[in-house]
Formats: sequence, structure tokens, C-alpha cells
Amino acid sequence: KTILNNIELLPADALFGIKQRFSQDNREPKVDLGIGAYRDNTGKPWVLPSVKAAEKLIQEDPTYNHEYLSISGLPQLTSGASKIMFGEDSTAAKEKRIISVQSLSGTGALHIAAKFFSLFFKEKLVYLSTPTWPNHKNVFETQGLKTSAYPYWNDADKSLDLEGFVRSIKDAPSGSIFLLHACAHNPTGLDPTKEQWGTILDEIAKKGHIALFDSAYQGFASGDLDNDAFAVRLGVEKLSEVSPIFICQSFAKNVGMYGERVGCFHLIVPRQEPSVDVDSIKKAINSQLAKIVRSEVSTPAAYGAKIVAKILNEPSLTQQWHKDMVTMSSRITKMRHSLRDHLVALGTPGNWDHIVNQCGMFSYTGLTAEMVARLESNHAVYLVSSGRASIAGLNDGNVEYVAKAIDEVVR
Ligand code: PMP
Repeated sequence: KTILNNIELLPADALFGIKQRFSQDNREPKVDLGIGAYRDNTGKPWVLPSVKAAEKLIQEDPTYNHEYLSISGLPQLTSGASKIMFGEDSTAAKEKRIISVQSLSGTGALHIAAKFFSLFFKEKLVYLSTPTWPNHKNVFETQGLKTSAYPYWNDADKSLDLEGFVRSIKDAPSGSIFLLHACAHNPTGLDPTKEQWGTILDEIAKKGHIALFDSAYQGFASGDLDNDAFAVRLGVEKLSEVSPIFICQSFAKNVGMYGERVGCFHLIVPRQEPSVDVDSIKKAINSQLAKIVRSEVSTPAAYGAKIVAKILNEPSLTQQWHKDMVTMSSRITKMRHSLRDHLVALGTPGNWDHIVNQCGMFSYTGLTAEMVARLESNHAVYLVSSGRASIAGLNDGNVEYVAKAIDEVVR
């Protein structure tokens, strides 16, 4: 017997399990609606034209090399990332209250937040939406934090449970942390309206809670960066007098560089009394963040960061990127309509309008775990057991097949 013999076997990650079963499935046709990664209309991964152009520029640069970045990351990335998130005329930026460090994509940014909370807000509860991206719980609990839940999805009519959400905000101990999906809520694809965001953020401000925005789909959801940053910017406006605000920003989806792990962590220091020395607060926070990054990755990953920095700072590339985001988001919207229309034409029992009303990568279809299992076993259509379908996996060549498969399992 060795000290390794009693280590508990954990279940495989559900999503990556689907990926594995899908790749081992020899049936044709087969359709992967599991992992949230964009596919083009032929079902292939898509390298964005803006990314290709940026890569070319970087490699043609005579000073090109693979040196280490600084601990806080590539300044052209963090400043550009901050600009698109908070806007060109952000008051917080003008007041120099934003601290930004580069992270290993969105998950790395969440991890930095979790580490920071575990050091300085150990006693606070982290409230997560029901349902949420399962890794949220994992990231915070691994750092020894306690998570709690707030209602979000109303199953009966596939709407936002605003009342339950607000009740949770009111009932939570003052100063709790609320994790908010900035846009394109994963897994439901259902976002609060602008008015509902106002209500939610006002209640959060009243209780002195801390908002942590997870922004993994800016520009990918609607094709427009400003539109998809609405909630974050409103949050910064409404909460700046009250508490710090944390923002975890991923460039996996909107730049289509999933595996390159480009992201940023931002912390907004609340507005202070004139007598308070904000610079010394920022210096202390920066030093702590540098220690966290240094101890874990030493310095962040450079290659993808250089590509995104080029896209954010070179106007012709920025313009191309905006077009690329419209290409992705409009193809997904088209597939939502196509799937809904096929289901309606087939007379599939139930109402399918939620598929077109939801936004972003996913649709929370309302299919039960049994139906999902049958989709996989009888039709080689793969999605997670919650009924969440990655709409990006649909294309003109398979959407009718998927609609017929859904029709069969629903009846
Ligand atoms: N948050 C949410 C809500 C997500 O859906 C994802 C990606 N699935 C992430 C964060 C993190 O993604 P990444 O680490 O690849 O940037």
C-alpha cells in the first residue's frame, strides 16, 4: 500500500466526456451540440480573418520573439481589453480606478478572483445563478470559498425568475459576492432586459453586495461589443460608490482562440473620499495580484495575447474583427430560426419560440435528460443532459436532421 492508494476517483467532466463519446461514434450523420465552440456552416472550427491578419503582422515584424511578458501581462492587451469592456469614455477609467491584469482566458480570470476573495474576503458567500456554468462552483470551492445559489431560470415558462433573483439579493448577508453573467448567460441563453438589469443592480447596490461579472461572450452574443457590455457598464455606474467590482473577461469566443487562453481580470476600486489615497490602495492591490500571478504562472501566456492586442490596437484589424463577430453571431441567429422553423413545420409538440428568443452560444431547449439520452443513442445527436444545446454546432447541412431527431424524442 502506498500513500496514493486511497485517492478518490472523480467522475469525468461531463462536457469533455461528450466530446470523447462523439469522436468515438462511427455513425453518420452525427452532430455535436455539446461544447460551446463556434463552427462554420460546414461544421468546422473557424479561424477569424482578423486573427489570421494579426498573426501575419506579428510574424513579419523584425522584432518578433518569444520573450517573457511582464507579470501583469501585455500592456497593449490589458489597456485595449479595458477599453472595449468599459467604453472609450468610461468614468472609472478617467478616474483611474481600474486595475487590469492578464489572465489565462476567462477561467484564469475567475481563478484570480477566487484567489483574491480567499485571501481578503474569506468569509463572504459567492452567489451563483441556478443554473450556471458548472465550473463556477468548482473554481470558487477549490479555493475554499463557500458558494450559494440565486434563482434565475423559471422552468415553467422559460423566463427569468426576477422575483426570486431579487429576493435572494435582499436575503443575502450584506457584502456578499454575486456572480453575474455579463451577457449570453450560460447555459440558458437568457439575459435580463436592460430594465431588469437596472432593478438587479439597484438591489445589489442597496445591500452593499459585490458584483463579479463573468464576461465570456462580449461581441459574440449580439455582434456588438457595446451592446454586450451593457450590464457591466451599468454595474460600474451604479456600484462605484458602494463596493469594488470584479470583471473576468475571456477572449476565447469573440476572437475564436479557445486554446490560446487570452483573458483579463479587472478590478474597479470604488470612488473614495477626497482624503483617501487611492494610489496607495491600487499599489497594494497590484502587488497582491502580482504575487498571485507570479506564484501560479509566473508570467502569462504571450502568443494569443499579442494577436488580440494587435486586433484591439490596429484600426483595420479592429474593423475586420467587428465584421467577424457579426458573421458568427448572425450565423447562430440564423440557425436558431432554422431549428425553430423546422420544429414548427414538423408539428413537434410544444412551443419552440424560446430557441429564437435566447441569445449567445446556447439554447436551454427544455429537453429532458431522457430525451437527451435518446437523441444520443438513437440519432447520434450529442448535447448535455440539462438540455443545453450549443447552437454553433448546427449548420444548413444538419439542422433539419436535428429537428427530426428532436421531433422523434419529444413525441
Ligand atoms: N464563463 C462562462 C460563463 C463560460 O461559458 C466560459 C466558457 N465556457 C468561461 C467562463 C471560460 O472560458 P475560457 O476559460 O475558455 O475563457
